[in-house]
Amino acid sequence: MSKLPNVTTSIFTVMSKMAVEYNAINLSQGFPNFPVDERLTDIVARLAKENVHQYTPMAGYPPLMNKIAKLIQESYSRTINPDLELLVTAGATQGIFTTILALVKENDEVIILDPSYDSYESPVLLCKAKPVRVALNDDYTPNWETIEKACSEKSRMIIINNPHNPTGKILNETDFLQLEKILSKYPDLLVLSDEVYEYITFEEKHISAHTKNFLLDRCIMVSSFGKSFHITGWKIGYTIAPEYLMKEIKKVHQFLVFSVNSISQFAISEYLDVVDVNLLGKFYQEKRDYFQKLLQNSRFELKPCEGTYFQVASYASISDEDDVTFCKNLIINHGVAAIPISTFYSDHKDQKLIRFCFAKDDFTLESAAKKLCDI
Ligand code: PMP
Ligand code: GLN
Repeated sequence: MSKLPNVTTSIFTVMSKMAVEYNAINLSQGFPNFPVDERLTDIVARLAKENVHQYTPMAGYPPLMNKIAKLIQESYSRTINPDLELLVTAGATQGIFTTILALVKENDEVIILDPSYDSYESPVLLCKAKPVRVALNDDYTPNWETIEKACSEKSRMIIINNPHNPTGKILNETDFLQLEKILSKYPDLLVLSDEVYEYITFEEKHISAHTKNFLLDRCIMVSSFGKSFHITGWKIGYTIAPEYLMKEIKKVHQFLVFSVNSISQFAISEYLDVVDVNLLGKFYQEKRDYFQKLLQNSRFELKPCEGTYFQVASYASISDEDDVTFCKNLIINHGVAAIPISTFYSDHKDQKLIRFCFAKDDFTLESAAKKLCDI
């Protein structure tokens, strides 16, 4: 008997595989296709010949942990204790999975906001807990009234993703006030804040859970170096939680992976001395603007994009097909791969929307846009 009967192959795998099969330009799965910063690859090349190949301590390589703490201090003026509140993880995915496994119990409820990234629900189900999917408003702002209605004494966790994949929406101060109001009524309710795109916001500044005092003793924050340093394949990130929660998270982590691969920890530790994460927003804003300009004469209607490297587009004036069929035909007939937004909803709500990843070099964006403008 399957423990996850409704789980099928992830849409990211399906679309990337089809893109390869049909030799299409892959704007589906989110990953950059431009070269990684040479300062980072030089560090790796040098380190490979040094003594960096054995286990690091379970929670992370201490110099890296100190530098992450410094990054949090510089970015959000929050002081964390790296020994007690920080864990280096094999990507944000492992941070999310480990956190849920450690903190959610059978029959607990976990609130997930739709559309939502695909790695939240399965760990909840594996805990024999109940995912409670609550739809965002049509403009992708959270509907705090329905969220509050979904909360009860059974609610153990609410998962927020800010900036938001797939919609590119970010939370504002009012959202945090509403969240605070709900949390004040449910003292055992935790917040899992997925902030993997924390440095990729555009006109508006990212508001991190780290900056909210009411969250500090009940929020688990996950981030990913994959997004911040254009190295999604390295699968390295970190999780920050108050000591009493981190103690439990570490118990699971030590049996899930024990420690994260050493060379990437050593390399990122050094790279953090020279890289400036504050340049990332401008870098991707230019890509977003360029991609939007290239598509301005297409028949796609582009939705607002406040952060992340994803652009949502409506194809309603092009086709009546459901979004999964549209994406498959887009690959087969037009040579461009995208992600159907319905796959981010528990009820697969089809709104004729698809997601393009614009973390690509100019040539790729231009070639894709040319094909998209011909439709
Ligand atoms: N959360 C969100 C919202 C993401 O988009 C991703 C990456 N696609 C992850 C988590 C997972 O990050 P990682 O690759 O570091 O595991
Ligand atoms: N986070 C990536 C995306 O949204 C996909 C990562 C994966 O394939 N699991 O495209």
